Amino acid sequence: MRLRKVEGATDLINSHPEYIVNNIDNSTIDIKKYFDNEHPIHVELGMGKGQFIYTLAKQNPDINYIGVEMFDSVIVRALEKLIEEPLPNVLLVRTDASFLPQIFDIRFDRLYLNFSDPWPKERHAKRRLTNRRFLKLYKQFLTSNGEVHFKTDNRDLFDYSVEEVQEFGMEVTYLSYDLHQEDNDGNIMTEFEERYSKKGNKINKLIARFEEDQHG
Ligand code: SAH
Repeated sequence: MRLRKVEGATDLINSHPEYIVNNIDNSTIDIKKYFDNEHPIHVELGMGKGQFIYTLAKQNPDINYIGVEMFDSVIVRALEKLIEEPLPNVLLVRTDASFLPQIFDIRFDRLYLNFSDPWPKERHAKRRLTNRRFLKLYKQFLTSNGEVHFKTDNRDLFDYSVEEVQEFGMEVTYLSYDLHQEDNDGNIMTEFEERYSKKGNKINKLIARFEEDQHG
């Protein structure tokens, strides 16, 4: 993805620590400082500009949402939404998903991956957010009933991901190769989903969870 440099993005991020953690030193985030309740926590990795998580958070005030995105110039758009209309159940974290173990000491109830970067070259497979290196991390962080929800229009990445989660021993509980055709009820579109479904691309979705006895 080509990124435009957004003037002042870093300054805006650093001036709103109440909404966004700019995780430059990879230190553990004290979640209780942000969410003063025991509600379930759902996380989106690679949240982009935040349309998906923001819409969900408005619909579900009893769920806490954490949006993780590594680029200032992208996450600043989500921050602008929060500044305009604050939501108590949203926290933004600017970091690379690889740092999850350093920064979180909590369990999530659900993990969303939407239109993750495909990294089509085989030698970059490790960077895909559905690569087993990441699945291993998610396993540490998800509660025993926790689920990974993944959407993409990229069929190659989707096929890879279905294989990868199954080889990792996860159970696939939902699988669609044309989400908008089959089951559009309650589906919340991401920015990429709007853009690519308009072009006629089919949207794939899977939900997977770790087998009970696998959890550790
Ligand atoms: N989820 C959004 C954006 C998809 S583009 C949507 O569906 O519209 C993928 C996003 O993931 C990009 O913004 C990219 O910066 C982010 N991303 C990719 N790898 C990441 C990583 N390792 N950690 C955090 N964010 C990542």
